[in-house]
Amino acid sequence: MKPAAFEYLRPTSLDEALEALHRHRDDAKILAGGQSLVPLLNFRMLRPAMLIDINGLEELQVLRVDDGGALRIGALTRHVTLETSALVRERFPVLGEAVRHVAHLAIRNRGTIGGSLCHADPAAELPMMMVLLDARLHTRSTAGSRVHPAEEFFEGPLMSAIEEDEILTGIEVPPLPAGAGWAFEEFSQRSGDFAIAAVAAIVELREGTVAEMRLAAMGVGPTPLRLHAVEEALVGQPLTEAAIRDAAAHARQEVDPETDLKASADYRRHLVEALTERCLEVAGARAAGTPAAAGVDA
Ligand SMILES: Cc1cc2nc3c(=O)[nH]c(=O)nc-3n(C[C@H](O)[C@H](O)[C@H](O)COP(=O)(O)OP(=O)(O)OC[C@H]3O[C@@H](n4cnc5c(N)ncnc54)[C@H](O)[C@@H]3O)c2cc1C
Repeated sequence: MKPAAFEYLRPTSLDEALEALHRHRDDAKILAGGQSLVPLLNFRMLRPAMLIDINGLEELQVLRVDDGGALRIGALTRHVTLETSALVRERFPVLGEAVRHVAHLAIRNRGTIGGSLCHADPAAELPMMMVLLDARLHTRSTAGSRVHPAEEFFEGPLMSAIEEDEILTGIEVPPLPAGAGWAFEEFSQRSGDFAIAAVAAIVELREGTVAEMRLAAMGVGPTPLRLHAVEEALVGQPLTEAAIRDAAAHARQEVDPETDLKASADYRRHLVEALTERCLEVAGARAAGTPAAAGVDA
């Protein structure tokens, strides 16, 4: 199918884009990579009168670490840029690993982090990464700026805190604790498909006990989830095999997925348990500096 007719605007500055969005707010859509928006237009599930193409806005294309060690990601950063960035691989390897699981290379070549976060698919990797990494999302409108903690940004399936007259401009990812271990585990029917479920972890060990634990899951609720109760139960404990098994069983209890055409709720709960166990083993081994023992790459 072809989309319904629309007007097309390609602003050359953020202010120009915000002004246009303010004027057409009830009937305009932002076009970034187009990988989610264009299918919706083609199926005529959306019929905006105006498309505001932000691909010319260079100020949304930054990828750098600031003086405080935070990663600054412009909203227009393509998935493939994150995937191939040496900076991301060195400082935030869990993000580099997760983005490789987003769709296929052709989609990662065009799709942007801003588009993925604003689309807010509950089975998308980058929203979960932002929740895991305690990221802050920066939005702008003609009225001013707002900053959203990632956990508050995602409000439901395909629903986020962004207003119709706002543009997501960038993301700020605070630095990880030095030497933190990490893992990302996903299950999907075929490589490149949306995940049925995924889990990711960040672990900091001090003198053999867990000093910091972050655990996130997706595909098992209306938004990506932080499993705070599981995290809190592990802090201060040695990360033994028994503690990992208990934490995985706990994670299973913490999620309340729904049955759909791809998987039953019970199967998704089973996946959360299995993926949590693997994540904690791998992240724990990386934090302890013994990745070879866990059979993972350094
Ligand atoms: C076949 C297929 C498989 C896919 N598989 C996966 C997958 O496994 N995992 C996954 O995570 N994703 C997957 N995707 C989605 C893909 O990652 C998209 O790139 C992403 O969801 C949207 O990014 P985009 O830049 O293309 O956004 P667009 O399609 O341009 O926009 C998406 C939405 O966000 C809004 N928007 C975009 N940028 C901004 C901004 N800066 N400020 C405000 N609003 C904005 C748009 O108005 C639109 O509503 C898949 C897509 C396809 C077609």
